[in-house]
Amino acid sequence: MFSLGDLYQQVIIDHTKAPRNFGKLEPCNHDAEGYNPLCGDQLHVYLQVNDEQIIEDITFEGQGCSISTASASLMTEALKGKSLSAFQGLFDAFHAMATADMDDKPNEEVLGKLAVLAGVKEFPSRIKCATLCWHTVKSAMENAAQSARTE
Ligand code: ZN
Repeated sequence: MFSLGDLYQQVIIDHTKAPRNFGKLEPCNHDAEGYNPLCGDQLHVYLQVNDEQIIEDITFEGQGCSISTASASLMTEALKGKSLSAFQGLFDAFHAMATADMDDKPNEEVLGKLAVLAGVKEFPSRIKCATLCWHTVKSAMENAAQSARTE
């Protein structure tokens, strides 16, 4: 019988086995490392952002559990070609989904395929695995703003 839960699981397994946009990005003008000590997940994200504040390309490298890898893979697909303000909207929606009450439906209109990760809220210890990549992109953008200020 078809179940939505199985479909979600298949997407996560698929992205874990064959992560999209995996590897170093060259050239790239923003990057950052993220680490989740609770699980041992390590990520490095690379972004190429153009003058119009559009994420032209985004990749990641690292080692982590299936949730952190699938989340980073899905995130890179979702963010490629998006503006930085769209990133902020997705960041907020993803964070809200991961920390929402069990009964709350994810905002699929905003999240699209990222909604497959809504199941992590059943496992509080895995929420940081799913949100690590988003925090890493955020810090990549903030680091850039900082170095731009000191120049
Ligand atoms: Zn993890």
